[in-house]
Amino acid sequence: MGANRHKSVDSRGRCTPEVFGEVLPGSEGPVGSRSHNLNSTRRASLMQEPVLVLNATYEPINVTAVRRAMVLMLKGVAQAEEMHNTEVHSAAHAHRVPSVIRLLAYRHIPQQSRALSRKNILLRDRNTCQFCVRVFPSSELTLDHVVPRSRGGRSTWENLVACCYRCNNSKGDRTPEEAGLKLARRPRPFTLHTSRQLMRLIGHRDERWRKYLFY
Ligand SMILES: [Zn+2]
Repeated sequence: MGANRHKSVDSRGRCTPEVFGEVLPGSEGPVGSRSHNLNSTRRASLMQEPVLVLNATYEPINVTAVRRAMVLMLKGVAQAEEMHNTEVHSAAHAHRVPSVIRLLAYRHIPQQSRALSRKNILLRDRNTCQFCVRVFPSSELTLDHVVPRSRGGRSTWENLVACCYRCNNSKGDRTPEEAGLKLARRPRPFTLHTSRQLMRLIGHRDERWRKYLFY
């Protein structure tokens, strides 16, 4: 047991549910001591489970991680609407793990608020290489300028796509047409519509989310 327990609970390689540019503060922080490795790793992965965030009006606006959701609840910014049957224990208390939370004050969400970042491009493209249409872990993807920078291609939502290293290499400093490659779909800005689609995709895993997403 000693040897493989490290391996079996390592969730680093998968596509994390850290959606919509929400960074988990301190998610890589110290967790427990070595002797409690299994429990603390389980707890760490539980703390990164996705939580649906609703606006005060019950409109789904975001997905965050359990850790961040619990911070928002402790600060009195949000309250739990749906819970998992699991608990996490702090020094003095047991807390049930939220699955859906709701902000207590209404927050205005601008339509085009998504920052152009590597993470958001990978999210938009669902970690799928836009040329060979295979899914990769984030670490195995790069960003490709569809029209190369050397040809005046800009770093915009419309000109950047997720791309595996192999396709990126074979494309080189050429346009897709020149390289004989075809884009899986035309790259678009990350809109609220994209966010909703992603939330629904994730929501299929957690039935507690459905009534908020499939209306
Ligand atoms: Zn590829």
